[in-house]
Amino acid sequence: MTAQITPLPAATPVGYPRIGPGRELKKAEEAYWAGRIDHAEFARRTRELRRATRARLAELGLSAAAAAPESFSLYDQVLDAALAVGLVPDRFASVIGADGTIDDDGYFALARGTAEQPPLEMTKWFDTNYHYLVPEIGPDTDLHLASARVVDLFRESLEDGAGTRPVLVGPLTLLLLAKAQDGAPEGFDPLERLDDVVGVYAQLLAQLAAAGAPWVQLDEPALAADQRLSATELADALQRSVGRLAEGADRPQLLVTTPYGGIGELLPALLATGVEAAHIDLTRGDLPTTDQLAGIGSTQLVAGLVEGRSVWRTELPTAAARLAELRSRVAEAGGAADTISVSTSVSLQHVPHTLELETSLPAELVATLAFADEKIAEIVTLAGGQVEAGSVDGPRSVPRTFDGVRVDSVRERVAAAGPADTERDEYAVRAEAQRRTLGLPDLPTTTIGSFPQVGEVRAARAAHRRGTLDDAGYEQAMKDEIARVITLQEEIGLDVLVHGEPERNDMVQYFAENLEGFATTEHGWVQSYGSRCTRPSILFGDVHRPAPITVGWSTYAQSLTPHPVKGMLTGPVTILAWSFVRDDQPLGDTAAQVGLALRDEVTDLEAAGIRIVQVDEPALRELLPLRTAEHDDYLDWSVRSFRLATSGVEAATQIHTHLCYSEFNVVVGAIDALNADVTSIESARSRGEILEAIDPGAFPRGIGPGVWDIHSPRVPGAEEIADQLRRARAAVGPERVWVNPDCGLKTRGYAETEASLRHLVQATREVRAEA
Ligand code: GLN
Ligand code: ZN
Repeated sequence: MTAQITPLPAATPVGYPRIGPGRELKKAEEAYWAGRIDHAEFARRTRELRRATRARLAELGLSAAAAAPESFSLYDQVLDAALAVGLVPDRFASVIGADGTIDDDGYFALARGTAEQPPLEMTKWFDTNYHYLVPEIGPDTDLHLASARVVDLFRESLEDGAGTRPVLVGPLTLLLLAKAQDGAPEGFDPLERLDDVVGVYAQLLAQLAAAGAPWVQLDEPALAADQRLSATELADALQRSVGRLAEGADRPQLLVTTPYGGIGELLPALLATGVEAAHIDLTRGDLPTTDQLAGIGSTQLVAGLVEGRSVWRTELPTAAARLAELRSRVAEAGGAADTISVSTSVSLQHVPHTLELETSLPAELVATLAFADEKIAEIVTLAGGQVEAGSVDGPRSVPRTFDGVRVDSVRERVAAAGPADTERDEYAVRAEAQRRTLGLPDLPTTTIGSFPQVGEVRAARAAHRRGTLDDAGYEQAMKDEIARVITLQEEIGLDVLVHGEPERNDMVQYFAENLEGFATTEHGWVQSYGSRCTRPSILFGDVHRPAPITVGWSTYAQSLTPHPVKGMLTGPVTILAWSFVRDDQPLGDTAAQVGLALRDEVTDLEAAGIRIVQVDEPALRELLPLRTAEHDDYLDWSVRSFRLATSGVEAATQIHTHLCYSEFNVVVGAIDALNADVTSIESARSRGEILEAIDPGAFPRGIGPGVWDIHSPRVPGAEEIADQLRRARAAVGPERVWVNPDCGLKTRGYAETEASLRHLVQATREVRAEA
């Protein structure tokens, strides 16, 4: 190590949002990509964002050297680490400049793709709603220092203050998240390149030391959340990577973080690497035992006591008691108890910037909320030692006791729900009744719900929200759009129609706004990926439905056509997955409440003459816990909530569900257990392979494999659709196949929508005639 400089400050979060409180990053990027600003202006805006962020963090108490993590990324922290070490797939070789480095345009080429090359694959970052770009590596990838971005950011931070703490995804996690590039030999495992990758990290650390960085943070969430390697294998790989870096002389002090789970038995291995500081997630993990701390020596512990991924305010007396208990265990293990830093469990990138911008949330709710800035205030307060310790087992977040948190009638209804409420008639009975009432042809055609959201629709919604369009004017605008979409579907010749969802800004927020128990924010944006941000609703109270939500729109649509119109709802699991959810009761209880609220909507739709209702659960796979041991419990309550929502109808009413991802082998049993009459899934991209993987016996009801990939503007030809239909029929047998695109059409344009749907109907007619 170059020099023993400063210990880590007493309070430091492990990451901070990077989009800016006014979504400055998104706006600058989108303007640059669209050519509205040049690179110099783009660089000026992002520089200003980083200056403002550092100033804000200093104001919050993180002004000392290395107190603030350097969380900025142009797009994604995994891509940053991948590019730093030259982990660029061969197909992108041209983005590497003559000097071996990659500029912003090259960086965005990997992130967003080019005219010739699709981008890196994107997937979920552990069990969060953040998505990272999957690095690709082969046995011959030329690993070298290809981007010194992290060094540049550190140097820049010295212009703004005492200097931040550079943050990099660590070498082990980077390779565990990477995949073999196309053409790599069968059986090649990215981990085979661990030594080479570590060599480049060592060079990078030397550069950071030369730039004067006292600390560098390596994020190793794989230690807490990896499911692939055994604990022994992880410990070995940790020694070969982080352990080797720690042995190096020419480097800053190292903080290794282990967010997204408890590391438990791996803590001794982490302490044995010789890094100067180790972070542990104490919201998901338990306090370490004295035994686990035996090797602590002079390692500084960074205690992730404040939950970084929820929006709830920490109950400080409980956290203070847990900190005191941790101190006494560290002391008992022979460590320096007074050097413990107080931190967050995970990066604050998963919560909005600040509550200060919110003007319309109820005051009693605000008093129990904390976004990123408020969470930093919490760790600073805890580190200051001013909080009187309560009980170690006390509530982890500030209890919420105001009106709406507990509604007796909701609780009574959940308690009274029994097995009969999740059962319907047998499928054979339902299928027969539905055949009679619906009279649909073989291979029925339909869509997933939304139609393209044209400018006028968005404008009408915005004007209504602002108050410049009155209720009557808004209702008329929506009805006009519904009528237009119905006429179009009739003209194209689809069998089961939809109203098109013009009234919905977002499939979850729309329901959150219409159900009790939720609050919505004005500026609570969080990054989903790149420039894409979402504004999750806050589910704080008992959920119930004060009045019908979709019945008016659906019945209006049905009044215009003799064809069946499908009612369209978002399912309980998806509503939970894409909201910030209360932490004061099991998720399963909350899901049951949402399920029952939706049940009211489903039965009201039925009573109003809607004969098909679709309940979307695109997030069923997404909310699956990281640990396999927790899967059964999750699948139990998630399936139950869906069945509570959908089992209140007659045999003749057809229930559909929609799941939009391809990787669902792990939940195939659960999909069956949902007991929907028809399930539509994404499979256009995998060209029907999914169907071949499904055992028809295990999945004996209607199925709609997506035959048009709506994620790209490409129009599929009728022959190609027909071919998929033939294969689907062969795989699951005739009579069960539905014909539909693989997701909603909201983001598509009308030109490709019309053309593709016409091909879809044409292909269906052709294949029907062959039967
Ligand atoms: N019904 C929704 C739509 O069509 C489904 C969206 C989704 O699956 N993500 O937009
Ligand atoms: Zn979908």
